[in-house]
Amino acid sequence: MRHKDLLNTNDILNLLTSKLNLNLKQKGRSVFFLCPFHSDKNPSCSFEPNRKIFTCFTCGFKASDIFNFWAQYQKIDQEEAIVEIGKMGYFDLAILQEEKKREQKEKNQIFYLLSLIADIYQHNLLTLVGQEVLNYLRQERHLDKTTINRFGLGCSINNRQLSRLLLDQKNADFSSEDLLATNLVWITDQNQTCDFFPAHHLIIPLANTEGKVVAFAARKVGEISADEGKYKYLPSYQYYQKSALLYNYSIVKKNRAEECYLVEGFFDVISLSKLEIKNCLALLGTNLSEEQIKLLLGLKKRIILFLDNDKAGQEATVNVAIKLLEREIDCEVVKNDYPGDPDEICRQQSQESIQILLHSRENPYSFILKYYFFKLAVRDNPQRTVRFINQVANVFQKFKPNIYDFLIGKISSLTGWKKTEIEPHFIKWNLPSFNTRHYQIIYGQELIVGKEKKIISLCTQERDFWLLTQEKIPFFSTQSHRAWYYDLYNYYISSPFHDSYSKNYPVPEFSGYRGSNSTAFFPPDQKSKIVNIALQELDNAKQFLLNYE
Ligand SMILES: [Zn+2]
Repeated sequence: MRHKDLLNTNDILNLLTSKLNLNLKQKGRSVFFLCPFHSDKNPSCSFEPNRKIFTCFTCGFKASDIFNFWAQYQKIDQEEAIVEIGKMGYFDLAILQEEKKREQKEKNQIFYLLSLIADIYQHNLLTLVGQEVLNYLRQERHLDKTTINRFGLGCSINNRQLSRLLLDQKNADFSSEDLLATNLVWITDQNQTCDFFPAHHLIIPLANTEGKVVAFAARKVGEISADEGKYKYLPSYQYYQKSALLYNYSIVKKNRAEECYLVEGFFDVISLSKLEIKNCLALLGTNLSEEQIKLLLGLKKRIILFLDNDKAGQEATVNVAIKLLEREIDCEVVKNDYPGDPDEICRQQSQESIQILLHSRENPYSFILKYYFFKLAVRDNPQRTVRFINQVANVFQKFKPNIYDFLIGKISSLTGWKKTEIEPHFIKWNLPSFNTRHYQIIYGQELIVGKEKKIISLCTQERDFWLLTQEKIPFFSTQSHRAWYYDLYNYYISSPFHDSYSKNYPVPEFSGYRGSNSTAFFPPDQKSKIVNIALQELDNAKQFLLNYE
C-alpha cells in the first residue's frame, strides 16, 4: 500500500481548510489556494485531486503527496508527518504498524535465506569440489581455519546449486520470490534457473551494519586475465547496495578502539585481523561514497588511512582524506614505504615491523601537501611553486580557515618561500579567513611591488622605456625600487650612448638589481603602449589598495 492512498481527496481538502485555514478555489480540475511557502496575493498553489500532488506556479514549491506537503510546511520529516496526520484521526495508525510488520517479516525472511546460503557456501569448502578454493585460502593466502570461519569464507561448486536446493524444493521459511529478489538466482532466456555466481569461486559474505549477511562477492581462483575484474559483486537489490557498504563494519562498530584502519580490499582486512588487528574497514575500491561517509561519521572513531602504496592508492588516499577532512572526521595516514597492499605487507613482514608501521602516522594535511608537491616535482622545477600553491589553496578552500596558518607554514618549509610570499596566493582564492582587510592590504602591497618591478625591468631593457616613464615619474613604494630607478637615471644620463638609440644598449647593472637580459625586440611604435599598460596596471594595484586602506 502506498502512503499516498492513506487519505482520500475529501480528507485532504478537509485537512487543508480545517487545519491550515486555507481558502480553496476550484479552477478546472485543480483546487487553488494562497501558497503558504511564499507571500502570495493571488492563489497560485494548486492541488491536483487525480494525482494528489501540490504545485506552486510562482515559487516552484512541489509536494508529491499530502504527507510531503505537511512535512515541508511543518519543517519535519516525512515519517513524522505521517504520524502527525494519523494522530489527527485521518486514518488508523494501526494500518501503518501492520505495514511495517509485514515489511519486517519480509526482510527477516530474506535475511534468514541469506544466512542459509552463507552456510551452504561455507560448507562447500569442505567438499571435494571445494578443495581447490580451500587450498588457495590455505596456501596462497596463508589463512587458518579460525580466520576462514571468522569471515565466513566459502565457495561456489556449480552454477545451479542454489536454484536446485532452494527453488526447486518447496520450503515454508521463504518463498522463491525472496530468492529471486536477492539476485542470487536468475532465470535465463530458456526459462532455466541459474545461480548468479559461477562455479569454483571463492565466496565472501557481505554484512550490513547490524552484521546480517545481505550479499556476497566472488573471486575467481587462479589466473585472472587483465580484462576481467578480480571480484564479482551481487547486483544491488532492496537491502543491499555495494557503494553503501564498508566491509567489516558491524565488527568495527562493536570494537571499543578509538580508531580504525581504512583499507582497500577484503584481504587487507582479513590479513590484519589474523594479526589481531580487528578494527579494520575496507572501502572495496578506491572511492569513498556519500553513504560510506555517513557510516564513518556514525562510528565516531579516528580513521587511519592505510590504502595501497601504489599510484592509484596514493591518489585515493588524498581524495578520501579530503572528503573526511571536509566533514571534520578526524583522520591520519599510515606512513608506508613498503611496496604493495596491506595484505602483502602482512604476509611479508614480521608482526613487529607491522606494529611499528601502523603506529607511524602522518598528518593528513601534510600528506596532501606532499602529494601535490611531489606530483608537480616542484623541488626540481621551482618555477612551478605558484602552480603548486594555487592547486593546494584550491583544495584547502573547502576546509575551516583555522588551519590555513598551519598549511602556509608547511608550504613555506616545503618550498623555502616566506609565509608572507605565500599568503597573497591564498587570498586569490577568496578563502574566508583571508578575505579580511588585513590580508587584502598585504595582497594589495604585493601587487604594487610586482607591478613596479615590471616597470623597472622594462626600463633596464631599453632606454626608450625609461624615457617614456620619465614623463609620469612613478613614485615607487619601496626604498629599493626608488634607489634602482634613481640609479637608472644616472646610468642613462651619463651613458655615452645617451642620445642615440641602440638595440645593443648595454644592460645596466647596479647594486642589488640585475637588469633583465631579455632579448625581446620591441617595435618602436609599440613601446609607448607597453609602458602605458604597465603604468595602468600599477595604477589599478594602487586603486585596489586604496579600497582597503
Ligand atoms: Zn509558492
